[in-house]
Amino acid sequence: MFPDLTIFLPERSEDSISESLRELTRQICLKTDDDGSGGLGGEYGYGCNFENSVFAMHRYCWCEEDDCKWCNGEEPNFYYKPSGTCISWYKYIGRDNDIDGSLPDDWFKTCIESIWGKNDCWIEFSKDDEYDLITLCFSPFDKDTIVSIHLNYFNPLYVVKTWDADTFFITFFDEDMNESEYKKVEKLRKKYPQMDKKISEMALKYNKEMIEWHQKRIEIIEDYKNDKTRN
Ligand SMILES: [Zn+2]
Repeated sequence: MFPDLTIFLPERSEDSISESLRELTRQICLKTDDDGSGGLGGEYGYGCNFENSVFAMHRYCWCEEDDCKWCNGEEPNFYYKPSGTCISWYKYIGRDNDIDGSLPDDWFKTCIESIWGKNDCWIEFSKDDEYDLITLCFSPFDKDTIVSIHLNYFNPLYVVKTWDADTFFITFFDEDMNESEYKKVEKLRKKYPQMDKKISEMALKYNKEMIEWHQKRIEIIEDYKNDKTRN
């Protein structure tokens, strides 16, 4: 933790424990690149699995294994360590929340501060009206390091996600960014090399997943072709 640095929290629509737990899930996903799949629980509605010295969070579990601590109720979905407070929910956050103990006023801030370290950065993918939008934060401790990039028809998200950091930035410089923004991003890349690293790691992961996906498609198509030949 870095007590001398201020963390800029996103604005929240309602100040409730559930809202905070969903936002906490979002921040953990930004930190860990977990996708936080939502479904009926809404975006970030199920929580995610994460633990540090301040808190532990665990998604609602459906596994029904005998020795599962979450299915048999031994462990809560959220445990705030400083006050020993436990919160459990049914399937998604906010549904039948069961709170054991109380939370101090600063619990949310303390949790957020415990997640982020000096060499972190985050990338968020979202939709802005009709276009995909990528928001990059080169350092969670400085709101001036946030840069947003709109994707266009020629560079859809599934293509952008395959790129290394140089291709990523050079492409957007050419197309979209004005001179001052260009210089700002160049400076940020030098000052916070973690962003280049993160982009490359995400691209590597995505490309590997796509290879597996294509390999599976090839197998399915070959099976189908062989069946047809036999008939
Ligand atoms: Zn389970």
